[in-house]
Amino acid sequence: MAVEKVVIIGSGPAGWAAAIYTARAELKPLVFEGAITEPNRLNGTLPLGQLNLTTEVENYPGFPSGDVEPYLDHALPKDVRQSMAPHSKHGVSGPELMELMRQQAKNFGTRIVTDDIVRVEFSKRPFRLTSLEGGVIEAHAVIVATGARANYLGLPSEDAYKNRGVSACAVCDGALPRFRNKPLVVVGGGDSAVEESTYLTKFASRVHLVHRRDQLRASKIMAERAAANPKIELVWNHELAEVLGDDKQGVNGVTLKSTTGAGTRQIPATGVFLAIGHTPNTAFLDGQLALTPKKYIQWTVPFRTNTSVEGVFAAGDVADDYYRQAITAAGSGCQAALDAERWLAHHE
Ligand code: NAP
Repeated sequence: MAVEKVVIIGSGPAGWAAAIYTARAELKPLVFEGAITEPNRLNGTLPLGQLNLTTEVENYPGFPSGDVEPYLDHALPKDVRQSMAPHSKHGVSGPELMELMRQQAKNFGTRIVTDDIVRVEFSKRPFRLTSLEGGVIEAHAVIVATGARANYLGLPSEDAYKNRGVSACAVCDGALPRFRNKPLVVVGGGDSAVEESTYLTKFASRVHLVHRRDQLRASKIMAERAAANPKIELVWNHELAEVLGDDKQGVNGVTLKSTTGAGTRQIPATGVFLAIGHTPNTAFLDGQLALTPKKYIQWTVPFRTNTSVEGVFAAGDVADDYYRQAITAAGSGCQAALDAERWLAHHE
């Protein structure tokens, strides 16, 4: 079996940036972009990652608002274009950005396998990886860029209105027209919930921050910020029972249930933002890389993408529970590629 120089697991901005850089360094990267399966669809772990689940991307540098259709027609193959949703003409969308990155990686010779890696053996080199379909690959270096997935509550109504008012990313979706000057609901009590609520007050008429307890988990300074913001109304001791809406307009309200036995109430809202944490996609590593207490891959060298196993690097949200932006993920993908290239130069 030929041993790959570098295998990249994951197909979000971190994975594609790593592929572009390693391909240009003539390392002939092999990317496992994930399998198209029902479990992956339900988990939010299909190929192209979290960005593929969003709409407009207004904060990725290089894509100001404008009509990108002609550029997409030119840059992407016809069959890819035909399978893409019509464009909103507000600039680039998450799925478009990911297809562009994927194509850029392909243009430099990246090979892509549409399958999951389900088992890794990092105890000796070359490393061995097993795919869902049963393929076994050996590699001198591995870049793990499998990302994280936003936690949802798992309500059927929440699932029904995803992308039609239900979101888990205020920074991604908050500025959309449907949320402007309308009441919104944020669920959660941590720093993310406060940050998302504060961000949404730029657009919303009112933000109802719904928390299941009577005290925020968020840091003191963030909690004070929420309390001081006249547009944020803290709704204590309640959980989201149901998202209300209709097929035409999407979300138009929520039913909240008291956690202290005070019954239910309804609030009108055009958006519901879940901020109840993220889960990194690290289960397949089966304990072979050191993880943080929250199960993110631990970067072991400051300002580098090294992991606890020499020759295995991590990039993007799978190792970063703090920034979680497309641009930071892409940046760390580039770093991982450079780290892998330098490591291979001494160890291959
Ligand atoms: P988090 O701190 O884990 O908070 C999650 C929140 O969601 C908690 O308040 C939790 O309630 C609530 N929650 C969890 N499951 C729930 C459920 N099933 N139903 C209802 N509520 C539920 O997550 P995070 O806010 O995303 O923060 C993650 C990390 O990033 C933290 O370390 C945070 O400090 C950091 N962060 C920092 C900043 C900043 O400093 N600017 C911004 C964002 C994030 P309970 O409190 O009852 O458990």
